[in-house]
Order: sequence, then structure tokens, then C-alpha cells
Amino acid sequence: MLRVFLRWSLLLPAALFVTACGRSPADHQQTLLVFGTLLDIKAYTDKPEQFNKAVQSLDETFQDMHREWHAWKGEGELVRLNRAFADGQAMSVSESLGDLLRQSQAYSQQSDGLFNPAIGRLIGLWGFHSDEPPGGPPPDPNAIQALLDASPSMDDIRFDGNLLSSANETVEIDLGAFAKGYALNLAIEKLKTFGIGHAIVNAGGDLCVSGRHGDRPWAIGIRHPLGEGVIASVDVSDGECVLTSGNYERYREYEGIRYAHILDPRTGYPVEHVASATVISPDGGLADAAATALSVAGPDSWHRIAHQMELNQVMLVNEKGRVYITPEMKARIVFQQSVDAVIISEP
Ligand code: AMP
Ligand code: MG
Repeated sequence: MLRVFLRWSLLLPAALFVTACGRSPADHQQTLLVFGTLLDIKAYTDKPEQFNKAVQSLDETFQDMHREWHAWKGEGELVRLNRAFADGQAMSVSESLGDLLRQSQAYSQQSDGLFNPAIGRLIGLWGFHSDEPPGGPPPDPNAIQALLDASPSMDDIRFDGNLLSSANETVEIDLGAFAKGYALNLAIEKLKTFGIGHAIVNAGGDLCVSGRHGDRPWAIGIRHPLGEGVIASVDVSDGECVLTSGNYERYREYEGIRYAHILDPRTGYPVEHVASATVISPDGGLADAAATALSVAGPDSWHRIAHQMELNQVMLVNEKGRVYITPEMKARIVFQQSVDAVIISEP
């Protein structure tokens, strides 16, 4: 998850624009608490009543998703599916969860399993199935090894329409790296059905946009993963999403060592070499899955994974503040702070 700050100071002059019908489009903003984070919804519109209705509807949709797609809390659909997998049973799932899991399976394959939402047990073992940041020493290496040996993968899941089963009882789905991006795309679509076509939906910094802010594109800032403030700003076009994975977001700390919440499914241990990975794409779910996969891939192999996932707008920042970036991304961002070094290369 990233944190992005809107640069409203740049945007405000556009709010003076007046429509032909006499009503001025203006900034409207509401904040919801969903997915354990604040969802900030901004619209540039002359229909505030419609905006309020849309936000109410979004609130209901997001609360439903949070309940049904939660990996370890409550009795939602995903918790029940994970139980069915553990028991070796098949379960019929909703169209939306089936769709989410089919896409996850494809992204997992494209990322050579670096994005692997089937490693829920490993994530739980590291203590990240908890609202509070976990403490204490890292898990027993034998327990980590046992889960590596069991090798849970999205390829273990069989789809018979929306009847799902798993060939591997250690598969436990955790959609923490993917569901948010997927949901942000849906939110933008839902706003459109209420006539709100110029909006930005921002979940703790991960965001999708529609339309423009008057005569300007929406402008956002990408949080510096190592320091304070914004590392770079970027204008975001209609239909685009910006997703970032960061080591700094959640971690456990023991004897001065931080263990990040992004795990390398090959080793069973947290990623160390990347501070953040940012992806821009029209597909929020793809961008979210990819940002996690690229964090795992790191400076040595991010090119291959980005290429396989057909992405060309990618930026990685390593733990020393060195920036690895594609030419397409470099061409559109504006650094707001000096950075250690910028290495530009094609996927
Ligand atoms: P993100 O912030 O999108 O990178 O998502 C991180 C969350 O995804 C973590 O808190 C875990 O719940 C889960 N996760 C961690 N490592 C992986 C991985 N390699 N593949 C898929 N999900 C992961
Ligand atoms: Mg992600």
C-alpha cells in the first residue's frame, strides 16, 4: 500500500470554472473507513447530491467486500472457502469471488508465483493476520520450511465454473495484495453509474481516477518510502490507477530488525531489498498484484516480471533510495526530492 498526497494547491484554480447551465463544478470530498484504511473519495462535479448518493452506495459495496473477502476475520465467503480448502472440500463461490480468484491465478502465473495469494498460512505464521503490528521473534524456521515444502500455489485451485476446490490442503487465500486495486476500479465504475465521471478514489494512497479536474488532469504525489513527504508527483489520466507496495507500511520489529509484511514465496521470509514498488495501469487489480510481485522480484529481476505482466510504467525504490524506473514512467513523473541515483531501463 502506498500513500499518495493530492496537491490540491495546484488544482484549486480549476474549481472556478463555471458550466453553461450556471452551476459551478467544485471539489467534493468524503472519507469512508473501509478495508481497515481510510478511503478518500474526491469528485469534481456540479452534482453534489448525486455524489453523496454514490458515496453511500460505495460505502455499502466496500463494507460487503471487506466482510466477504477478509482472509481471517469473521465468517465471510473467503474464510469459508479457506476452510473448505483445508478440509479438502469443494465450495460454490459468488461470481465476484470467482472472478477475483481467476484473475489472481493469472497474475500469479505471470509473475512466476512472486505474487502468490495462496500463501495465507505463511502470512499468518509471520503474524500479519492481526490488526495490530505483531511483535516478538520471527517464526520457527522449521515451521516456515514446512510451509515451503507444502508449496501452496494458485495452480492448486480447480475451477469448475464457480465450484472451487484445491488439490493442496495448505492453500489459504489472502487477497491483501490484490483486492484493493480490484475494488478501486469497481469504485470508479460505480461513480460513473451515478453520473460522477471526474473523480479520484484513494485508499491509503492506492488510487484510481476518472476524468479530469476541470481543465487539468488529476495530480498526485507518491510518498517517499524512506523519508518524509513526496518522492515524485505525476499527472494521472482518465481511467488510470496508481498502486504502490511498500515495506514501510506494515512490519514486525524485533531486536531492532524490521520484518516487512511482503513475503518472498520462494524463501518464506520478508523482502529486504526493496522499499517500494509503484505501478501505473488502467487495471487496478493488475497494478496491485504487480506492485507486490515487483517488490519481491527486486532490482535484479523486476524487468522480467514487468515484461511478463505487460507493464511499462514501473518505479522501484530500493532500501538505499536508489530508483529503478522504466522510460515511460520516467517521462511522466517529476521528482520532488533529490534521489540517490536513477537507473532507467526497459522491462
Ligand atoms: P501489498 O501492500 O499490495 O503489497 O499487499 C501486501 C499484503 O499482501 C500483505 O500484508 C499480505 O497480506 C499479502 N502478501 C504478502 N506477500 C505476498 C505475496 N508474495 N503474494 C501475495 N500476497 C502477499
Ligand atoms: Mg499489491
